[in-house]
Parts: sequence; C-alpha cells; structure tokens
Amino acid sequence: MKQSIPTPSFYSYLFLPLAYFISVKLCLGLAMTPEGTVIIWLANAFTLTALLYYRGQRYWVFILFAIAAEIAADVPTFPWYEGLMLGVTNTIEVTLAYLIMRKVSMSPSLYKLEDVIKFIVAGPFIASLIGALIGAAIIKFFGVDTGGYLSIVQVWWFGDALGLIIGIPLLLSLLYYKSQPIKPLIRIDLIVAVISTALLLMLTFGENGLFLGVVITPTLLLPSMLYLAARTDLKCTAIAVFIVSFALALVITAGRNPFGNLSISLTILHAQEFIAILSIASMGFATLLSRIRDNERELEDRVSKRTDELQLLNHKLEGLSKTDGLTGIANRRSFDDVLEIEWMRAKRANQPLALAMLDIDWFKRYNDHYGHQAGDECLRRVSNILASNLCRTGDLVARYGGEEFVFIAPAISGDQALEISRKICEALHSLALPHELSTFGYVTVSVGVASITPQGSQKSDVLVKMADDALYQAKEQGRNRALLA
Ligand code: GH3
Ligand code: MG
Ligand code: MG
Repeated sequence: MKQSIPTPSFYSYLFLPLAYFISVKLCLGLAMTPEGTVIIWLANAFTLTALLYYRGQRYWVFILFAIAAEIAADVPTFPWYEGLMLGVTNTIEVTLAYLIMRKVSMSPSLYKLEDVIKFIVAGPFIASLIGALIGAAIIKFFGVDTGGYLSIVQVWWFGDALGLIIGIPLLLSLLYYKSQPIKPLIRIDLIVAVISTALLLMLTFGENGLFLGVVITPTLLLPSMLYLAARTDLKCTAIAVFIVSFALALVITAGRNPFGNLSISLTILHAQEFIAILSIASMGFATLLSRIRDNERELEDRVSKRTDELQLLNHKLEGLSKTDGLTGIANRRSFDDVLEIEWMRAKRANQPLALAMLDIDWFKRYNDHYGHQAGDECLRRVSNILASNLCRTGDLVARYGGEEFVFIAPAISGDQALEISRKICEALHSLALPHELSTFGYVTVSVGVASITPQGSQKSDVLVKMADDALYQAKEQGRNRALLA
C-alpha cells in the first residue's frame, strides 16, 4: 500500500499542541498514582504520529508546539524550566524513534506485521528507554523524585513505551485505515461481549483481585481482546486496547488493587506488563490476520484475472487456428484466406473459380428434435461427405458458420461444380440420416453454386454473393437441391 504524503494543514498545527496538552492532563489525572507515578504517558504518541504521518515535514513547527504544550500543561505541577527540560527530553525521544523508523523503512500505515515489529523495537524499546535514561537523570538532578535512578528509569520507560504502544497504532489506524464494511454480528460475538462486560464489572468492583471470593485479574480479558482482534481490524482493536488500558489505569489510580494485595509499585508494574502484553498481542494479531485476509483476497483476484486472460487467449488461439473445432475441416478464417489466394490465381491464369454454399435443411428442427449433441454429430457427418467429394488439389471444404458449409474448386465450370453438388445430395440420400421433421425424412442440404473467371478489378465477394443468392433460390424452390447461379 503506497501512501501519498499529505501536507500539514493549519488544523494539524492546532491539533497537535491541543491533543498534547489534553493528553498530559489526562495522564496526570487518570493514569498517575497518588505516589506521582505515571502509568501511561500518551503525549509522545501525538508528536510521533505528526512526524510519521507528514514524513518529517515542518519538523520544527511540530516540535516547538509540542514543547510549548508540555510547559503549559506542566506548569502548575513543576516550574517552567523543568517543563522545558521534560519537553526537550520527549523531543529527543520522538525524534530518535522517528529517525530509527525511517532508517528501517517502517511504513506508517503499520500494514504489515514486520512494520509493527519495527515500530515496537524502534519506539517503545529503544527510543523510550533512552528518553527514560535522560528523563530520570533530569528528575534526579532537580530532586523531584527521591527513588533510585534505575527505578525511575523503569517507570518512565514503561510509561512512555505504553503510551506509544497504545497511542501510535490507534492514531495511525485512524489516519490510514478506511472503514471496513461491518461484519454481521454472530452469536459468539454476543457471548464474548457479555463475558467481557461481566469481567470488566467484576474487575471494577472487586477488591484486591477478588470478586465474591473468586480470583479475577485483568489477564482474563486477553482472550476476548484477541477474539475482537480476529473479528475486526487494527482500528477497532486499537480503540478497545486504549479503552481497556485507561480503564485499568483509572482503577489503579482510584486505589484499587486488581492484581491482588500488592505494593503500589508492584501493582503498577503488573498493570504496565499487562497493558504491554495486551496491546502487542492483540494489535499484532489484528495486523497479521487482516494481512492474511488481504492476501487471500488478492490471490482470489489474481486467479480470476488469470482465468479471464486465459479465456481471452483461448479465443484468440481459436481465431488463429485454421480448422473448425467441431468438424475438423477448414474454418471460416481459412476459407477467407484461401478464397483470396485462389481468386488471384484464377485471375492470373484466366481460369474459372467455382464456389458452392451449402446449408442443411431444417436444421433448427433437427436440433430441437434430436438435441444439440445429435446436431453436432450431424454436422460432422455432413462435413465428412463434403470432404470425401472434393479431393482434388486446390479444392477446399470449409465450415462457413453454423450449419452452413462452402467449397471452393479451382478451374472448373459452374456445371461441373453443380455436378459435384448433386453428388453430395445423393451421398446424403444414401447416408439417410433420419430427420423426422423434414419432408424428406432424412438430412438434406440445399446448395447454391457459382463459377466466375475473375475480370479486371472484380472482387471475390461477387462469387460468394452469387452462390448465396442461388442457395436462397434452392431453399425457395423446396430445399434438397443444388442450383447454379
Ligand atoms: P433452413 O432449412 O431454412 O436452413 O432452416 P434451418 O432450421 O436449417 O435454419 P436456421 O438458420 O433457422 O437454423 C440453423 C440452426 O443451426 C440454428 C442453430 O441452433 C443450429 N446450429 C448452428 N450451429 C450449430 C452447431 O455448431 N451445433 C449445433 N448442434 N447446431 C448448430
Ligand atoms: Mg442457415
Ligand atoms: Mg439451414
């Protein structure tokens, strides 16, 4: 899927700082524990999406807006210069992520599984870790957090990584994915929905991982999420992951302990682990499956296209071939060619060229009465009789079309051609192929014969026309006869 690169619009400049600001507030409000730990840091996903979507166009504008939004959102909590330092750290993180992603040619549409893997390694793994190493140093330097350096690194890393894992596929799929036609709901969908809702309620109202004494942990949601990923696409899955992740962060922020009676730092760690597994597994699964589905569709399209091409080619080959498939005698195309050659030869030699048009009598009735297969067999029998009555070199017997035949005989007069035609009628009489719906009781033909010695600029069509007219006369006069033009 080749995407054209859009140019940043006025609204994109407005949207980024706004989204950044709101997401910082959201994460500080919903996803930060009373101890000041941010479980999910979403803001970087917006900046990185802007860089990826616009392929780095207007880099500085986006970056400056993002830093300004960071300071504006932080100021009540931290002094402005700390907000600035955090903004710069986040800038380093997203720039690094963007550069690695570009270096490994990751497609921002995240269409293929390999793009999802490139994204996870470049963003959440490498860039977030480096951002965390710098960010934790800043926090230590300003003495905001009294914890150990490495534990701050860990929390920062996981929070940033989760923000990217949840946010990037969501934003990119909103930007790139055309809505798929909604699949009709099946009964299992409803069952899964009911079970998931029940689980969510039990998780929300449970205490210390227990609901009415039964152990209920968020991990139980994983199968439903994978089911959703299989049934829908990346966009729907990303939205669901987003909702579940923030719901879980909210539950923890509210002081509940969905993973059991653990310390807050362990609970956060479990939550982050769970969100990471949930998002990587379900979004990877969604991408993989929609890719497989696309491949299947592509394959089907290709097969049907090839079949069409083959059919076309078959038709062409049929046209190119010189024999008639049903009767094995020359076809119309071959007749046209030979007529032209014999016409020129007769003209040069100043000799006559004879042509006869033969049409089986009441053949439609024959087909209707005996069936098309019998009709085909009848055509073969008649063509055999024709062929056996014209064996001089230069003679040609051809199927003109349908139940009409022609023969060309060079250097003979009209009377001689008429004689041959009568022989053919006699041969059919002897063959006596039954034809109940004919007045004769057997298969007969009508023949129109013509012979011309080509003169001047005369065309061969004249000969065909004369024979055709004679055939018409033969039909008029009662069929089963040969007439000379
Ligand atoms: P007429 O005596 O006036 O020639 O009457 P007809 O029924 O022979 O002529 P008409 O043109 O009405 O019908 C020709 C029939 O030939 C119609 C068509 O179904 C049949 N036909 C044409 N090509 C084939 C073929 O390849 N196989 C078979 N079985 N029938 C054919
Ligand atoms: Mg006919
Ligand atoms: Mg006919």
